[in-house]
Amino acid sequence: MSLKLTQYAAISSEKSLSSEKHILLVLHEKVEKNMPFAKILDNKLKRSKSEYKDLNKTPITVELPNGGVASFVVLGKKLKLFQKHTLLRKAVKPLLDEQPEALAICVFGDETTKETNACAAYYVATVNVAELPSRKKDKKIKPLKAINVYGYKAAHDYDYVNARVAGNTLCRSLTMLPPNELTPTIYREKVKKLAKQYGWAWEEFDMPKLKKMGTGAFYAVGQGSNPLDAAIVHLTYKPKKSTKHIALVGKGICFDTGGHNLKPAKYMQGMHEDMNGSAVALGILTAVTLQQLPVKLDCWLAIAQNHIGPLAYKQNDVVKALNGMTIEIVHTDAEGRMVLADTLTLASRQKPDAILDYATLTGSMAVAVTDRMSGVIANREELACKAIEAGDAAGERIVAFPYEEDMDSDLDSDIADIKQCTLEGGGDHMHAARFMGKFIENDVAWLHTDLSSSNRKGGLGAVQSDVNGFGVGFGLEMIKSLIA
Ligand SMILES: [Zn+2]
Repeated sequence: MSLKLTQYAAISSEKSLSSEKHILLVLHEKVEKNMPFAKILDNKLKRSKSEYKDLNKTPITVELPNGGVASFVVLGKKLKLFQKHTLLRKAVKPLLDEQPEALAICVFGDETTKETNACAAYYVATVNVAELPSRKKDKKIKPLKAINVYGYKAAHDYDYVNARVAGNTLCRSLTMLPPNELTPTIYREKVKKLAKQYGWAWEEFDMPKLKKMGTGAFYAVGQGSNPLDAAIVHLTYKPKKSTKHIALVGKGICFDTGGHNLKPAKYMQGMHEDMNGSAVALGILTAVTLQQLPVKLDCWLAIAQNHIGPLAYKQNDVVKALNGMTIEIVHTDAEGRMVLADTLTLASRQKPDAILDYATLTGSMAVAVTDRMSGVIANREELACKAIEAGDAAGERIVAFPYEEDMDSDLDSDIADIKQCTLEGGGDHMHAARFMGKFIENDVAWLHTDLSSSNRKGGLGAVQSDVNGFGVGFGLEMIKSLIA
């Protein structure tokens, strides 16, 4: 996507906007003197029996005398970025639905307000015009070609925002691909191409290699596929200068049937999106690379499918993980923690300062926090606190759950060192974290994100597509916070 950005420091007037046909006016609590189209807005508010301050909850779109269209939204100072993103998404949608060539964004208020709101509006606009996979033969998209910002001139040219949009778009595009277009074989080829494009070091552990290494947990899931195309892919971004070393880990189940514990149709629907965690990790890696952030990043993708078949793993199988622990299989649909277990061991053996993993892991997380937010669990309390702040800074809501040792007794097995999960009671998202924590070596600090909000009907926060790339913005802020 090539988008021309023009910035005008001067506050917009009706005259300066005369050639604009699609205008987003981002206002603040006080009514701006000489606000463009004030009369038209006033009439519309009167007609709908609402007031200026209601634009803080419901944006309004009006037709302009020149045949153009304008949306008005008020972003109150007290609003969190998530709420601002949501309001901006609603305000800009009627404008973007017309597939304009140019979009004008007008910001008002003091310098800080203008900067925050211009960045938020620019993000919401650009993330929602990104091209996403579609296989409809008559779907024609006219791309947005220009954004004109009035009222604030940023020295940064929105480089950070553009990087985030690129990461988010990559994440969504991969996640939306139908499963026959993103098998592990195809996914691995795509990742290899990305590595070349961005200059990442690339290495792959395929199934024969993994068997030799003894990654029995990962292998148990991969063995059910024909061809045996599961693999752990390892990418590295290494800038000239870096103060910290962080590892990203992502769950990349290209399709999850549930295995022998087969999912019913209603729950198998959409299971090609079970690789979203790996796409989030790739999105973060891409955004960090585009910004050339001074951090060494390792990225570990656990790519496989969870199939049913004569060679697929079964309930009560006992397998031995890379770290030597034996695992009793309890539910073949809990494959995410299996592929992640060995991947976390590999990541932790390099002793990074922190591991951040991303996975669409449990149904119980969605039960706990719905699809409006995602949950995190960390083996360090301060990491969980940082995560909530990073989520706030990104406009992606994060809820922290405890990591309590006494839950381990629920995973006691009669035959192996540990049970994969339990069939009793709730809290599977916390059991999953306790399980995965056992495979981290060298006591590396670790934050696990269970992406319950990866897909929300009608969009979430800034993003209007159901698959919303949640986690890329949060992960970026998390890395910025860790290297600060
Ligand atoms: Zn599953």
